[in-house]
Amino acid sequence: MTTAVGPKTRRRIMAGIRASGRLHVGHWLGALQTFVELTRDNDCYYEIADLHALTTNFARSGEIADSVRDIALGFLAAGLDPQRCTIFVQSRVPEISELAVLFSMITPVSWLERVPSYKDQIAALGSEIATHGFLGYPVLQTVDIIAFRGQAVPVGQDQLPHLELCREIVRRFNHLYGDVLTEPEAVLSQAPAVPGTDGRKMSKSYNNSILLSDSAAETTAKVKEMFTDPTKIRKNDPGHPEICPVFFFQEIFNARNAPDIAHRCRTGQLGCVEDKADMAVHLNAGLAALRERRRELESKMDYVDEVLANGTRRARETAAHTLAEVRAAMKL
Ligand code: SF4
Repeated sequence: MTTAVGPKTRRRIMAGIRASGRLHVGHWLGALQTFVELTRDNDCYYEIADLHALTTNFARSGEIADSVRDIALGFLAAGLDPQRCTIFVQSRVPEISELAVLFSMITPVSWLERVPSYKDQIAALGSEIATHGFLGYPVLQTVDIIAFRGQAVPVGQDQLPHLELCREIVRRFNHLYGDVLTEPEAVLSQAPAVPGTDGRKMSKSYNNSILLSDSAAETTAKVKEMFTDPTKIRKNDPGHPEICPVFFFQEIFNARNAPDIAHRCRTGQLGCVEDKADMAVHLNAGLAALRERRRELESKMDYVDEVLANGTRRARETAAHTLAEVRAAMKL
């Protein structure tokens, strides 16, 4: 079951970001802006998912702390108000881990093995990531939602199968132990997939990201190297802006001029070097306020730590209630 972003009735929203790298422009456009919007009419819990990061980064666990800090800065710089939502770190809520053990008892291995990303990720990253924890990733995801009584979860189309598995696990729990938990609904994100500098989806694993922590100069250098329409080799060649990642960003950050840019690209009046330089200026302008807030917050890390401590305390209270109900239902 799905609804559009911005539901009328106030609901408990649960969402998180995996602490496996620094936040990039794709996170901002694809998730953080929705997170902020949802806080207007809902009770939102936003998790920095460091346990999830361990599933693939267990051998480099020392890098996770930097990512946790970066995500906390990004959440606040993007406009999340800690008075209007609960921001917390997953591993600092031990109730999540206990619930994950209990839910792992009722989740058939066959359900987990059929998740498409399980085999895809092993093929991409190697068989050494095929740990017990990695297989159980969807159980932990389910617990992330039910621990906080999440009624709705903002997801992209590609994440719908994961949410459906979560709903199946919840149904199984309720079937076994009574009607205790609510099946979460999807709040389907309308945000487009953001391309990275190589034209594929912007992602830490592809090393194609423009980071929120990058300086304007670093951003400009990355844009200079950006993939464009491969058939447009010289300025005079007619281009296809609809397949060009540079144009994707022009449409967002330079919307007023985008039709003219598309026309000049198609008719061979605009070259990629010139267009990239122009796009970098507009992208940097669009990111300037967020980056400025991020810089300010970096000089107030005590405040950021306090936000996480308060959010984690609130999250633990909620998760402890759920854990007590789950234990009671299971007669433990
Ligand atoms: S001119 Fe601009 S929109 Fe056209 S292909 Fe080059 S970078 Fe892309």
